[in-house]
Amino acid sequence: MCIDDRTRRDFFKTAAAAGAALTGVQALAAPSAAHAQEATAGFGEKVALTDVRVFDGQNLTAARTVVIDNGLIGVSALGARTIDCEGAVLLPGLIDAHIHLQDVDTLAALAGHGVTTGLDMACFPPSLVTSLRRRRGLTDIRSAGTPAVAPGSPQSRLPTFPASGVVNGPDQALRFVQQRIAEGSDYIKIIVDVPGLSEETVRALTTTAHAFGKAVMAHATYAATVDEALDAGVDMVHHVPLDTALTAAAAARYVAGGAISVPTLTMMEGFGALGIPGLSYAAAEDSVAALHRAGVRILAGTDSNLTPGIPVQPAFGLSLHHELELLVAAGLTTREALGAATYLPAQSFGLRDRGAIRPGYRADLVLIDGDPLADITATRAVRRVWAGGVEVPAAA
Ligand SMILES: [Zn+2]
Repeated sequence: MCIDDRTRRDFFKTAAAAGAALTGVQALAAPSAAHAQEATAGFGEKVALTDVRVFDGQNLTAARTVVIDNGLIGVSALGARTIDCEGAVLLPGLIDAHIHLQDVDTLAALAGHGVTTGLDMACFPPSLVTSLRRRRGLTDIRSAGTPAVAPGSPQSRLPTFPASGVVNGPDQALRFVQQRIAEGSDYIKIIVDVPGLSEETVRALTTTAHAFGKAVMAHATYAATVDEALDAGVDMVHHVPLDTALTAAAAARYVAGGAISVPTLTMMEGFGALGIPGLSYAAAEDSVAALHRAGVRILAGTDSNLTPGIPVQPAFGLSLHHELELLVAAGLTTREALGAATYLPAQSFGLRDRGAIRPGYRADLVLIDGDPLADITATRAVRRVWAGGVEVPAAA
């Protein structure tokens, strides 16, 4: 499948529409007795959460009942154990659109803070990703695996960095993309910063990934490298510039190309605080304001990592709540910030079974105290969490 610049947005829209249609079909099918038995054996008991106000993507609904059945949101509370939620707010499980996978403990930390999907933006070796996929009662993951980096770049000098991630020129794009696909990467990650890959190489990697139906994630933390990523037609630009704020014209380029932004303000804030000459968090915050004004789709991502040699290491799970606060401070409404961590990343990554609380979707749920539309810090008050229908211990 070849996805050129003009059709890329339609590709995502089609994926989202297909997801909605699929859900409609599933919602019509009542859970069978056989499913109910499986629920006990495989996915935990059937549970009815009563008296919850649900975030529906726009508002909080009136008090209602949400059923967890066989790992999914069910349609009938018949035979379910009831949990009285006393008017608390139920959010779809949160999605962090930028983490670096580490181990099972960090998946548990994500889940405990209500982050039930983690989208990895580079980790290695490939066996690490394999070992962390589809773990019952833990955060569900997608992964870029090994990123494409330039020879001599800081990433390439990390002790455990796989040699196959170093891309010497455009003629190695096919080799790189095919290796990632063979390893099971869900999308392709490209480090565009200085010293970075050449423009020709970034373009070749992007074109090749699209030819194989893979979305392209660019790392860019300077205004110039954001430009380079947009020139190449990447699907998402991760981070925002720390050197100089994106202008309205730059933001308009995101819109024209259908590019999505994952600002990772938590990470930018950490880097801004290091006192590196010429870099400031104000540029990052102003960039998000410009992107927001232009109508660019913005997703919540933290850059949580425990990678040796990286000077800023946001905490897994907890930092997503901080990211929501930073996005609101940069100009997003609370409703938009919640969308940036729920249905928007689900749509943007083609995850058709999550991001909303609907029959047939994964039972990824976060029960919180307080109204996050009135005050975004309410998401921190996590009372209970279900990951794929399995209740997990909420972080203290
Ligand atoms: Zn990162």
